[in-house]
Amino acid sequence: MTQRRTDIRNVAIIAHVDHGKTTLVDCLLRQSGQFRDSQLAGERILDSGDLERERGITILAKNIALQHAGVKINIIDTPGHADFGGEVERVLRMADGALLLLDAAEGPMPQTRFVLRKALECGLKPIVVVNKIDRPDARSQDVVAEALELFLDLGADEQVADFPYVFASAKEGFATEDPEVPGDSMQPLLEMLLEHVPGPEVDVNSPLQMLVSQIDYSEYVGRIAIGRIQAGTIRSGQSLALMQESGQTEGKVGQLFVFDKLGRTETETAEAGDIAAVTGMEKIEIGDTLCDPS
Ligand code: GDP
Repeated sequence: MTQRRTDIRNVAIIAHVDHGKTTLVDCLLRQSGQFRDSQLAGERILDSGDLERERGITILAKNIALQHAGVKINIIDTPGHADFGGEVERVLRMADGALLLLDAAEGPMPQTRFVLRKALECGLKPIVVVNKIDRPDARSQDVVAEALELFLDLGADEQVADFPYVFASAKEGFATEDPEVPGDSMQPLLEMLLEHVPGPEVDVNSPLQMLVSQIDYSEYVGRIAIGRIQAGTIRSGQSLALMQESGQTEGKVGQLFVFDKLGRTETETAEAGDIAAVTGMEKIEIGDTLCDPS
């Protein structure tokens, strides 16, 4: 039997380069207040390669997680470039919703069409975030209309065409329902996200199934497989079956992580609906599935 989790949201972020994704995520993390000041010193968070190195683990896939109103929000970065063998789709499959971030002056750019189309194909209903409304040349309401045009152009159904939207200045640190009235925090965006992105629908009692969507690498632990757990529970140290294109092999989970703020924290178990990172399997590839051995 499936049930909907209410304690977590998995949301993909789709944006054209320079429309403010890094600034937005940075702002959300800062406002979530879960960081020591030293972690926030200097450069913007997603760009801070040194910080990542300091933590002993590289964050190639820029997933981050934050807590809001007792809910864990996993924000999944989508590749901005054209597809590599279904990469975009696999990443989007980890999410139950999407944020489409648009520059209030530039509006939707042709390059966002591809990822957006994939998101719609995956059944995601995007929330539109019109960012940079502080720009003197902002055309905030026009950009909402252009987003609608784009959705219709991509064949969106009525439900998707009736998308929720919010205005923001990631640079000044606020989201607001009225572009003429600046706010004082990102709260309106977070609330919209909790309301419109459904929690994962899961079957915790089924046997484990996890599709590998991203591979990360660390000198210390080797290959790190990242994916969403579709069904069941995964435990650190457990044996599992690794289903690959070339066939099935046996494997064993080394360390198990979930996303936490900028990085990852080790955990004993993770369950359906969680996005997890698993070490211990040197041959693992994107597109493989981890299953219960039985
Ligand atoms: P990304 O490529 O989508 O990650 O974009 P960045 O977050 O790096 O932002 C690109 C540029 O836009 C930077 O110079 C930011 O300072 C600027 N920017 C981001 N958000 C805002 C905003 O709300 N208002 C204004 N005026 N500039 C912004």
